[in-house]
Amino acid sequence: MSDIHTVDLLFQDTPGAIASSVFDTGDGLAVVDTGPTTTLPALEEGLRGFGASLGDIRHVLLTHIHFDHAGAAGTLLERVPRAQVYVHERGAAHLSRPEKLVASATQIYGDQMNRLWGELRPIDPERMTVLAGDEGLKLGQSDIHVLYTPGHAVHHVSYHVGDDLFVGDVGGIRLADKQTPRTPTPPPDINLEDWRASIQKLRVLDARTLHLAHFGHYANVPEHWDGLLTTMNADAERVREALAQGRSFEWISAQFTEALLSELAAEDPDLPGRYSAACPPWMSVQGLMRYWQRKAKSQGEGTP
Ligand SMILES: [Zn+2]
Repeated sequence: MSDIHTVDLLFQDTPGAIASSVFDTGDGLAVVDTGPTTTLPALEEGLRGFGASLGDIRHVLLTHIHFDHAGAAGTLLERVPRAQVYVHERGAAHLSRPEKLVASATQIYGDQMNRLWGELRPIDPERMTVLAGDEGLKLGQSDIHVLYTPGHAVHHVSYHVGDDLFVGDVGGIRLADKQTPRTPTPPPDINLEDWRASIQKLRVLDARTLHLAHFGHYANVPEHWDGLLTTMNADAERVREALAQGRSFEWISAQFTEALLSELAAEDPDLPGRYSAACPPWMSVQGLMRYWQRKAKSQGEGTP
């Protein structure tokens, strides 16, 4: 597709950390991931940049329901009565009754919830198109193929539209061409086996351009996916080894953060600050710790 706008949501006044992608379907605009409620003014400003407004949005395509991707969806729908939201079936109930989602995010972010994300308004189920994954949508003139791509979240989907592939967080965090993509691995449902299978599903698709929420668009080439797999394995291994040594969360988090940020700084001195805004490393540590602990537990249960 010719005109896909990457709108920089300037999250925490940081350029290039969280993006929404916007395109015209011929039946109003489609927005892939709204970003959080706190950056709704930046989305509006971005739309104004190409002569559009919130009222032009008809289709809100969510890759998943984490606050940095879907937080503003409910507020947006209240302001735009004709807009409809698209979300995977395992995420839908949390959007119409967000209490559990808010409680689980509060465990991670504590008293920073409001400053970072703002309010999460509930969405009327009648305004949701619930996706199973691997179906087709016809929105205006756009044929959209939905792919079920778990790993980062159990309810994560990607959207394939012509030459473009909107991969949410499953395509990794990549803030510049010269940065090797990395996996954002927050709690609660990181699953690396599922993630690798999702990468396999995505990388063989006939699409020229990848659109990442964190951040922007890149050529869909094997090097992107290979780099992502390499850093995924290295980051996960780092946490696994430290757990095997009996290290605390604080210890692992400090080591992990230092290693990650220095690798990023070697690629570009501008990267560590932006990366920390897009995905705080301690959060990735929490998710990976949980992943390995759950795995150890299930293997322990499997042993006679
Ligand atoms: Zn994200």
